[in-house]
Amino acid sequence: MTPEEFRLAGHELIDWIADYRSNVEQRPVRAQVDPGQVRAAFSTSPPQSPMSADQLLRDIEQKIVPGITQVQHPMHYGWFPSNASLASTLGDIASSGLGTLGISWESCPALTEVEEVVCDWMRQLTGLSDSWEGCIQDTASTACLTALLIARERASDYSETRGGLQAEDKPLLVYTTEEAHSSVAKAALLAGFGRDNLRMVPMVEESRAMSGPALASQIEADFAAGYLPCAIVASVGSTGVTAFDPVNEIVEIAVEHGIWVHVDAAMAGSAMLLPECRHLWEGVELADSISWNPHKWMGTILDCSLLYVRDVQHLVRVMSTNPSYLRSTVDAEVKQYRDWGIPLGRRFRALKLWYHLSVDGIDAIRERLRRDLDNAQWFAEQVARQEHWQVLTPVKLQTVCIRHQPPGLSGEALDRHTLGWVNAINQSGKAFMSPSQLDGRWMVRVSIGVEASTRAHLEKLWNLIRAQAEEVVQG
Ligand SMILES: *Cc1c(COP(=O)(O)O)cnc(C)c1O
Repeated sequence: MTPEEFRLAGHELIDWIADYRSNVEQRPVRAQVDPGQVRAAFSTSPPQSPMSADQLLRDIEQKIVPGITQVQHPMHYGWFPSNASLASTLGDIASSGLGTLGISWESCPALTEVEEVVCDWMRQLTGLSDSWEGCIQDTASTACLTALLIARERASDYSETRGGLQAEDKPLLVYTTEEAHSSVAKAALLAGFGRDNLRMVPMVEESRAMSGPALASQIEADFAAGYLPCAIVASVGSTGVTAFDPVNEIVEIAVEHGIWVHVDAAMAGSAMLLPECRHLWEGVELADSISWNPHKWMGTILDCSLLYVRDVQHLVRVMSTNPSYLRSTVDAEVKQYRDWGIPLGRRFRALKLWYHLSVDGIDAIRERLRRDLDNAQWFAEQVARQEHWQVLTPVKLQTVCIRHQPPGLSGEALDRHTLGWVNAINQSGKAFMSPSQLDGRWMVRVSIGVEASTRAHLEKLWNLIRAQAEEVVQG
């Protein structure tokens, strides 16, 4: 494809995207396809002759779009908000268009230095002190793995340079809770700790937050039994019920014993753009690493996850490889982001954050987050006020966990009822929510925060939910 051909096809694609985004509300929220249906629309053998970009655009419309669950739809309340602001989309397109290679400072000085700039802007915007330095990772899962790798190396005094974990005398331990995201356990297993060395600390019953006293006594007992407590992963805004582990209590215990604290704020990090929410991670300045995803609620298009550490030297010492073909004369003066994580090559992801912050503007972003917090409170009030409806956990941010409990229904019958009404709504394409388990029983998470989602959409949702739940009971 020549640049001239690109220009023509590109204009068409942008026009198509603009129409698609304007009309997303007219589409069903959940993908309307059965397993294998999208695959079957494609030829099993690769294209034999070149196709026009027009043909591909038609295929996007006909074959791809039906296979998309429309998470930009204002009636999407599933999983978590995965906003993809159009300003940030432009930045992502710019990143692709520039065709840069990020393997060293030298291969694209701008890529490195804009990333430094935007990570520092984001640090300031979330109220973190200048003792933190950050980089952009693909996801919070990768950030957590990176954090546990560097925690492992600190606790084991760089075991990677000797026999690795396999040669250590004492098993190293990681602490988290059952409420933590599945990526935490995954990271602990991949980092070589082993499931037996992953401690699930008891939680406070109502809030599902890690219990500080339980953590302290578990750590004491583990030291006494000859283990080496290595890292604590604190959930700041858990995925399930937005639980906030008490970071201030956790860091106090950790600092005393030299244990690494990683703060997983993947979802709730966006809230830290609002000064009034920062009490939710009080104590964070004494943690060792923090990650959060602008690609969720804040809305910088996926993938964009921030990882901050206080001890960059340690991070780089663990992650650095420095083969001769990548060395340069300016190494002492510049950042080499390949030494801040796992991948060598990196995309110019900083551009989408730069576009998002500059074009949408921080005031508008903050206003939208506050709108969503208000909407969540409003929605929870409607539910709590209604007979036979319950809000199951405190509404700390924008997720409301609800259940309809008609008289006489309990146990498995109640589960069938809950799944019945939520699945009927999800299947209808009118709205989408995530059924989820809380203490072994089904409930429904209503995760508010899609950019296009207004109070009117929530009113519509509440009417839809009540009508559907009553219908299931009567039927
Ligand atoms: C979404 C989420 C993750 C995982 O994020 P990815 O970027 O998809 O890896 C981890 N932790 C929490 C609390 C989350 O909400």
